Amino acid sequence: MTKYIFVTGGVLSSVGKGVVCASIGRILQVRGFKVTAIKIDPYLNFDAGTMNPFEHGEVFVCEDGGMMDLDLGTYERFLDINLSRGANITTGQIYGSVIDKERKGDFLGKCVQIIPHITDEIKNRMRKVTRLNSVDAVLVECGGTVGDIESLPFLEAFRQMRIEEGFLNTLFVHVPLVPILDVTNEQKSKPAQHSVQELRRIGLQPDVIVGRCRKMLKKDTVKKIALFGSVDEKAVFTSPDVKSIYKLPIVLDKQGLGNYICERLGLNHKDYAWSKWRQIVESMINAKHEVKIAICGKYATFADSYVSINEALKHAGGLCDTKIKIDWIETESFEEKPETIKSLSSYHGILVPGGFGERATEGKIAVIKYARENDLPFLGICFGFQLSAVEFARHSCMLEDANSTEINPKTPHPVVDLLPEQRNLNYKGATMRLGGMPVGIKPGTTAYKLYKSEQILERHRHRYEINPKYIPQMEKNGLVFSGFTIDKTRMEILELPSHFFFFATQFHPEFKSRPGRPDPAFYGFVKASLDKKSDVSQPIF
Ligand code: GLN
Repeated sequence: MTKYIFVTGGVLSSVGKGVVCASIGRILQVRGFKVTAIKIDPYLNFDAGTMNPFEHGEVFVCEDGGMMDLDLGTYERFLDINLSRGANITTGQIYGSVIDKERKGDFLGKCVQIIPHITDEIKNRMRKVTRLNSVDAVLVECGGTVGDIESLPFLEAFRQMRIEEGFLNTLFVHVPLVPILDVTNEQKSKPAQHSVQELRRIGLQPDVIVGRCRKMLKKDTVKKIALFGSVDEKAVFTSPDVKSIYKLPIVLDKQGLGNYICERLGLNHKDYAWSKWRQIVESMINAKHEVKIAICGKYATFADSYVSINEALKHAGGLCDTKIKIDWIETESFEEKPETIKSLSSYHGILVPGGFGERATEGKIAVIKYARENDLPFLGICFGFQLSAVEFARHSCMLEDANSTEINPKTPHPVVDLLPEQRNLNYKGATMRLGGMPVGIKPGTTAYKLYKSEQILERHRHRYEINPKYIPQMEKNGLVFSGFTIDKTRMEILELPSHFFFFATQFHPEFKSRPGRPDPAFYGFVKASLDKKSDVSQPIF
């Protein structure tokens, strides 16, 4: 029987439920169990694809093109698995398919209700993920905070799962915030008590409580939480502040969480060791060198907008024995005060990430020009790739006012243009070129040196592409397109051999990067930044 581990959050959102959930997964994996994860997002959107990354954080793209909540990225990185679109369940999907069935007459004249029809649909979807993955355990994280109206049908489905799957096959983990009062330095358990009460009102009694607290929970805080939460003191754990989120599985397991869960669920396991994972984590925390990277974009002040890039840089740093110091820079500031662009000289590498729309693009182009002219290691991703082509067309091919038609539909030189199949689309949701697709690599290039293969699979999310009409002219002026679709019609990677490291990809390498196994584009960028800092004449890969 597959075990279901349901994770809920209490007191407020962003307590790090996703990381706790992923850590539990890793804890089980270390013991030899096969796991997968589901994230429930109780909003009405069908998927995360249409949501503003500035408010909701990055849209994570999985191999099959599903556009998901950023927590799914955390699961992929912690568990080193590829999830599929079914792993992110939203209210929009549930109601959409129930209403669709009702219109088809599938309910045979019945009154369609939240219980049982909506809850049945939720349970069916969770079970489908389990069936498709044939795993020992499924982690199911419910987004939001206990007490939200939106999440009630999902929590009700969890309650029913306990009855249907049995006590031994289900576990409820609750993650409430335990604040520390500044003035008295006291750990306050009352909010956690209230959120457990709220859970119970809905019919869920937690089996395990993981208090999210800046420090380790004190004995008397644990006692109080256990007493009021009706759990054993041994079932109360702390998710404290950690130097790296990847350390949390080890920190939680050391407190006995893994053994407690396995005992409770009847999961028998052999000996296990954290040494490999610990080594990966340590390489990211205790690195010998350091590089300063500027990420220049539109949503730069909100780190969650680029969380996978942030993580991919750290993974690459781990492999280069290098700590990554990241500054997020709003490129609009360079449009207002062009002379401030010189501040970029204090960085060892410049990254321009993906993006949409006109705002702040001239600033991004100015950043790319600065990196190119000053031989600063540069990595462009998706929109950053397209804008590097625009910059090169304008300043190296002398195509004045060259642009992407996304920014200026009337540009005299549309070097980046809409993909032909995107032309007559009315729907915005899930209609981009999405997901994992093969990319051919040209031998003898930096791309080949890094990827060491003539074909790779990388994830996409875009509507625009390099206009094929301008390729010969750009190549004549020294730009090399070193990656392309298998039929060679679409450009996927560009590089400048005359530059120390100038590399950009149409795809999103950040989505495939894993701790201990960074995507080669990130590895190349970080290594080049380090080598540039060390005054090496060319990067050594
Ligand atoms: N806006 C560009 C496009 O749609 C780039 C997308 C991105 O950066 N993800 O093609």
